[in-house]
Amino acid sequence: MKVCIIGGGPSALFLAVLLKSRGTADEILVLEQNPKDATYGFGVALAESAIDKLNESEPTSMKALQEKMYFIPSQVIENDQGAFTLDFAAQGGAITRLDILTVLEQRCRDLGIEVVHERRIDDLSEFDDYDVIVGADGANSVVRSANESEFGTQRNTRGNYFVWWGCAHPKHESGLRFRSYKNSSIMIHYYAYTPEMWTVVGEVEEQCWFDLGMDKMTNAERKAMFEEAFDDVFEGRPMIENKSNWNQFEAIKNERWSVGNRVLIGDALYRAHFSIGSGTRLAMEDALGLADALAASPDDIPAALAAYEEKGKPKKEKLMAATVQSYTWYENVHEKLGMPVLDFIQDYMDRTGRMPADRLKMFVPNFVAAQEQQAS
Ligand SMILES: Cc1cc2nc3c(=O)[nH]c(=O)nc-3n(C[C@H](O)[C@H](O)[C@H](O)COP(=O)(O)OP(=O)(O)OC[C@H]3O[C@@H](n4cnc5c(N)ncnc54)[C@H](O)[C@@H]3O)c2cc1C
Repeated sequence: MKVCIIGGGPSALFLAVLLKSRGTADEILVLEQNPKDATYGFGVALAESAIDKLNESEPTSMKALQEKMYFIPSQVIENDQGAFTLDFAAQGGAITRLDILTVLEQRCRDLGIEVVHERRIDDLSEFDDYDVIVGADGANSVVRSANESEFGTQRNTRGNYFVWWGCAHPKHESGLRFRSYKNSSIMIHYYAYTPEMWTVVGEVEEQCWFDLGMDKMTNAERKAMFEEAFDDVFEGRPMIENKSNWNQFEAIKNERWSVGNRVLIGDALYRAHFSIGSGTRLAMEDALGLADALAASPDDIPAALAAYEEKGKPKKEKLMAATVQSYTWYENVHEKLGMPVLDFIQDYMDRTGRMPADRLKMFVPNFVAAQEQQAS
């Protein structure tokens, strides 16, 4: 089987590794527009449960990724009424995006897979002789946009504005802090991904963006505003920028996952909101789903692509529903800043309906103990 993969992000590289290591495809070409070792962003969070699942399918890559991960033991959640530190019983971790790419690309090289950098693809016709063309080219996928009506692409631009920064951190905690600020509400979500560095996501509700005059500010002024508002957290350390542009999130989904021999995975297929922290895991799980389907029907590609969609869709729909609930919660958080902090955290935990009481007790026992103590 000859497979051409457009994009060289986590989903693309993981798919290439799976197809080659299992002997499903003998010819694999990966085409990435960015130079080698260049990437946007800082670190991404990966939950331990996600790693366990992917581990079974590709232990070599996953072991190397785990060695590069930085595990986060606790998270502070704050609103105007106070703050509480959740101690995690299950380990969650984060990793530098560049490390994910470096580990997976090294594994590709070890398996003899060709990864071509600095090759932006705008016209797919030169790949007509490939059995499968995979769009692993992220949120602005050209594979998807070339056949958008056939894929049944749906887009939904959300209200809140957000940005992604780095920061040399003074503490190892991760945190979610929501504050009233000049009659508006602003928030940061930060987590350590190395012993020295935090990823920081800054966010404001749409109305606050205008009320605070952020629409007229430069990026430097917006950054300065956040540095000042959260100075007690950052302790004077500046935000570090890397293509750190403020945007509104565009949720994307597709009615159909393949058109002919063109198939989508990762952010090109569905774009989960960053507040559920699963984009990278979902992208890698898509790669696994597609690799499994192609391995099961290597001589019948249409059947394999149909099976990929049929098997993957129900779970993906559930996650996308969680995404909608999560960004809707963030879009209305100003209503909750006056809640007692433990009630606020419970509300946050309940926002996607995926954290029943027994799971919550297992995941953050000290929070449940504090609630019980307060009630008694
Ligand atoms: C603010 C923010 C915070 C996030 N935090 C987290 C987090 O904590 N945890 C998490 O798991 N996820 C997080 N994500 C999401 C995560 O970054 C993505 O979900 C994940 O990277 C998707 O992987 P992918 O392989 O599908 O696409 P991408 O990682 O986007 O990779 C696509 C690749 O394709 C290349 N490409 C695009 N077009 C072309 C073309 N025409 N020709 C050649 N190459 C092309 C791009 O250069 C890119 O390298 C966050 C995202 C944002 C915006």
